[in-house]
Amino acid sequence: MDFSFTSDQLLVRDTVRQFMETEMRPLLREYDRTEPFPVEQIRRLGELGCCGMLIPEEYGGTSTDTVTYALMLEEVARVDASTAVTLSVTNSVAPAPILRHGTEAQKKKYLPRLARGEILGAFCLTEPGAGSDAAGIQTRAVREGDSYVINGTKSWVTNGGFSGVYVVFAKTDPPAGGRGVTAFLVEPSFPGFRISRYEDKMGLRLSRSAEIIFEDCRVPAKSLLGAEGQGLKGALGALDGGRIGIAAQSVGLAQGAFEAATRYAKQRRAFGHPIAENQAIQWMLADMATEIEAARALTHYAASLRDAESARQATENRKGGVSTPPSEAINQVGASAPEAGSFEARGRYGPQAARAKLYASEMANRVCYRAVQVHGAVGYSRETDVERYYRDARVLTIYEGTSEMQRIIIARELLGPGRTW
Ligand SMILES: Cc1cc2nc3c(=O)[nH]c(=O)nc-3n(C[C@H](O)[C@H](O)[C@H](O)COP(=O)(O)OP(=O)(O)OC[C@H]3O[C@@H](n4cnc5c(N)ncnc54)[C@H](O)[C@@H]3O)c2cc1C
Repeated sequence: MDFSFTSDQLLVRDTVRQFMETEMRPLLREYDRTEPFPVEQIRRLGELGCCGMLIPEEYGGTSTDTVTYALMLEEVARVDASTAVTLSVTNSVAPAPILRHGTEAQKKKYLPRLARGEILGAFCLTEPGAGSDAAGIQTRAVREGDSYVINGTKSWVTNGGFSGVYVVFAKTDPPAGGRGVTAFLVEPSFPGFRISRYEDKMGLRLSRSAEIIFEDCRVPAKSLLGAEGQGLKGALGALDGGRIGIAAQSVGLAQGAFEAATRYAKQRRAFGHPIAENQAIQWMLADMATEIEAARALTHYAASLRDAESARQATENRKGGVSTPPSEAINQVGASAPEAGSFEARGRYGPQAARAKLYASEMANRVCYRAVQVHGAVGYSRETDVERYYRDARVLTIYEGTSEMQRIIIARELLGPGRTW
């Protein structure tokens, strides 16, 4: 087992770290108050290749392995978790369904522009009445001639209002439940598409979370993504990959909080000596560092399984065989859901991505709690980075599947028929 990074991985890590430290960190305290969407910085990150890392070279991406992608997100989140989620969505859950289910024309139209960072992508599954219960969405799409007409509301859309393409999930066959969900590629210029508001969030204040209303939104039939009724499978498959990104974001955020706490502990004096000389503080730092390492290892392991899965599929495709899509059959909802699928039908990395996301997101919250504690009152002030990290960390156990949903995915695999214990 080799835990060392390649020279290419180190180059990506160091380049992104330098950019985030010099171009982003100095702006963050002000930006956290004024909440601009950092268009210029994201454009620069796109130029550095950070927007299309999982997109193949033939479509303008860098075809990077998932471990390198995780390293990139970790470095971004170490400084600013908001920018990390913007990049995570545009690299992962938005292009993944296009790559897997898109026509050649759709791939050529959207993927190169996403890869260059010319446009951002968005993923619209959640609605005011359905989050974890993704099969319960109410947005409706009805075929009318050579278009579909979409009606409904999508909420918490990351990159909403700043994206050039929205992967939208709507029901074409409501009685079929999850099997009646279909995906569409929607552009903001389509008639009937409207951003109705932005969420006023606890943290991640440099990322945008939009509510979008589709009011008789007319979408050309050629914007259908995959087959009717296959949308939910595609969404859940994309979320498996997305969770590796959220795990990496959690590791990076925790690393940033840990480094700030360590610096402060060495510099702050109480009772005549630096507080770092107290065993209570040392134990906090030791626990933080250990948990971060454990989460990083889980994340990189899930990332390497994803790469192995992609390589396996590529080989099978070359041989002309039919391969099982990764983890597409895993549902976010309870085990009784009809889309749950058998253990054999699940891909290999989905449950591992769930473990990484579960552990890393909860770890980041524990680390940020301790980082604020090490800072004392100063940690409760908006003058410190740890206060921002603490607020930003809270969402990690919620989006791209709550901790409870991750435990369901993990338990279903543990208790599934493929297990011998
Ligand atoms: C900042 C932010 C960005 C987001 N970005 C996007 C995005 O880009 N696209 C998108 O589609 N969505 C996005 N979301 C939505 C996010 O994915 C959902 O919030 C999440 O899936 C949870 O859904 P919910 O909020 O409706 O909670 P609910 O599903 O209502 O759950 C509420 C609570 O009940 C628990 N619960 C529900 N069902 C069960 C069960 N069966 N067993 C045990 N516990 C259960 C949950 O774990 C949770 O604790 C974003 C959310 C946030 C906060």
